[in-house]
Amino acid sequence: MDLGIRGKVALVTAASRGLGRASAEALAEDGARIVLCARNEEALRDAEQAITGLGAEVLAIVADMADPTAPDRLVEATVERFGRLDIVVANAGGPPPASALELDDDAIRAAVEVNLLSAVRLVRAALPHMRAGGWGRLCCISSYSVVQPIPGLALSNTARSGLRAWAKTGAADLAAEGAGITLNLVCPGPHATERMRQLGGSGATMGDPADFGRVVAFMCSAHAGFVNGATIVVDGGATLAL
Ligand code: NAD
Repeated sequence: MDLGIRGKVALVTAASRGLGRASAEALAEDGARIVLCARNEEALRDAEQAITGLGAEVLAIVADMADPTAPDRLVEATVERFGRLDIVVANAGGPPPASALELDDDAIRAAVEVNLLSAVRLVRAALPHMRAGGWGRLCCISSYSVVQPIPGLALSNTARSGLRAWAKTGAADLAAEGAGITLNLVCPGPHATERMRQLGGSGATMGDPADFGRVVAFMCSAHAGFVNGATIVVDGGATLAL
């Protein structure tokens, strides 16, 4: 299926490896021009090279999504280079494991900064450009923890539930606007990435990041215009929440 995104400009954050990179690659395979960011220059250049090898035009920018100025800077650089912005995949690294009853304020603030506020800032910065183009796809990579909290990951569970509520509200506002812009969450269950290895995950029930990236690409496609405010859980059926 042609996703109908040839020539569209997609900004994918935290994309030097794992699910962000897989999303950028899937969008590139369907003809999108790609802007990607990560904190580490060497890993970023590796991703830039690989995605360029898929035939895409690529702009790679070193940025930390914990930095409140990063979203504006990324959107400005995108528009300066390509003159437009059509697709945003808001991704960032996950917070460290933490027990719910022992959280301190600073840890909660840091998780909210990276896993909630960075997406809010990106969407805010991107929207004027999408409105100008009369089309847009905003997709936040979150976690299956928004439908079934994961024991021992209290920071992730807490910040991401806030993101879910915010995205649902924003999606309704966008629908009322009728500007052709959608806002959705794509929520991975366990996938074979570095993050999962760090958390000690293993076994045959892991998803393939490349498949996850293709789900994200579909959510950013021309065909997903009537999917808005959705929480798409990509977990192979692991969660039992209705
Ligand atoms: P990963 O650690 O394998 O890759 C994360 C990527 O983001 C890397 O390129 C890293 O350099 C970059 N990054 C991390 N923090 C950043 C920051 N502050 N600013 C810019 N770049 C940053 O992680 P992943 O498995 O690809 O996970 C992506 C997201 O999905 C994370 O939020 C993670 O918690 C969440 N998630 C992953 C899984 C899974 O099974 N892999 C499951 C549920 C949720």
